[in-house]
Amino acid sequence: MLAYTYVDHGKFELLDKPKPVLLDDRDAIVRVTLASICTSDLHIKHGSVPRAVPGVTVGHEMVGVVEEVGCAVAAVKPGDRVTVNVETFCGVCFFCQNGWVNNCTDPNGGWALGCRIDGGQAEYVRVPYADQGLNKIPDTVSDEQALFVGDILATGYWAAQISEIKPTDTVLILGAGPTGICTLQCVRLKEPRRIIVCDKDPRRLKFVRDCCPEILTAGPEQVQELVQAYSEHGGADVVLEVAGSEETFRLAWECARPNAVVTVVALYDGPQTLPLPEMYGKNLTFKTGGVDGCNCAETLELIADGKLDTTPLITHTYPLRDIEAAYDLFENHRDGVIKVAIQMEE
Ligand SMILES: [Zn+2]
Ligand SMILES: [Zn+2]
Repeated sequence: MLAYTYVDHGKFELLDKPKPVLLDDRDAIVRVTLASICTSDLHIKHGSVPRAVPGVTVGHEMVGVVEEVGCAVAAVKPGDRVTVNVETFCGVCFFCQNGWVNNCTDPNGGWALGCRIDGGQAEYVRVPYADQGLNKIPDTVSDEQALFVGDILATGYWAAQISEIKPTDTVLILGAGPTGICTLQCVRLKEPRRIIVCDKDPRRLKFVRDCCPEILTAGPEQVQELVQAYSEHGGADVVLEVAGSEETFRLAWECARPNAVVTVVALYDGPQTLPLPEMYGKNLTFKTGGVDGCNCAETLELIADGKLDTTPLITHTYPLRDIEAAYDLFENHRDGVIKVAIQMEE
């Protein structure tokens, strides 16, 4: 089968590999139908994910059809259409029992697929702990609608869940990339009084306004002023930092009112500084990444009910054999790309 592979620092290649087989009673083999490229794949390519293993098939955002299951798998059966979770988790350890599946103590717990074990930019993928890692897609939900459930939509949903958003709140979201937009959609479900979205790219802000006309938008230079104008207590009640730059990390606490919740969703290239003397007296609560992706059944329900719709994010679709071109487009932000879907051939 064809599998897009991390060969070496800076180099991915489409290789012919053997079809994966069940290695454990709790495994499933999934025939991938649609996959996507994530910014984290680029982080692997450029060496900023040291635990990524050369030779691994990349890709951790995909949907497909169950081909085969181990004898201990109960939640899915061959023929089921499923979303695949970015995170591998056992479901029984202390962290899993508390819903903190990102910290599952299994050796492959957390983000392993497409990083430490073979992922889904391929015709087939082996999913460990299939009862936890797969969710059945309702019949009324298409592959395109379900594509982001296991990764960026899970992230947005988790971020909105932990941010303690109240109906009277002004919520600031920093970053309107794919994960920022998923976060925005999930924050909207909490129905805060006001949502402000900040990004340095005017095209992204236009995309936000086109999808959600009630959202206020601003670039990084104007955002503090806008937040002040539209909040009652000197700053945003809740800030979600999804952009991941030094500037946005600073804006996150600067735009927050005293006693606000600041949720850091972003993954940074380097350490950030908390200037505690400057912040003293603000009494902020920081919550830091990453996602506990265990609410996929709920998000699939919300999609089926028409309350979440991430399909506008898919701006381009390529067949697997042209995945090189898809990466080139995504990496170089050409042609207004937001997300690329990779279609597997029948
Ligand atoms: Zn990802
Ligand atoms: Zn666990």
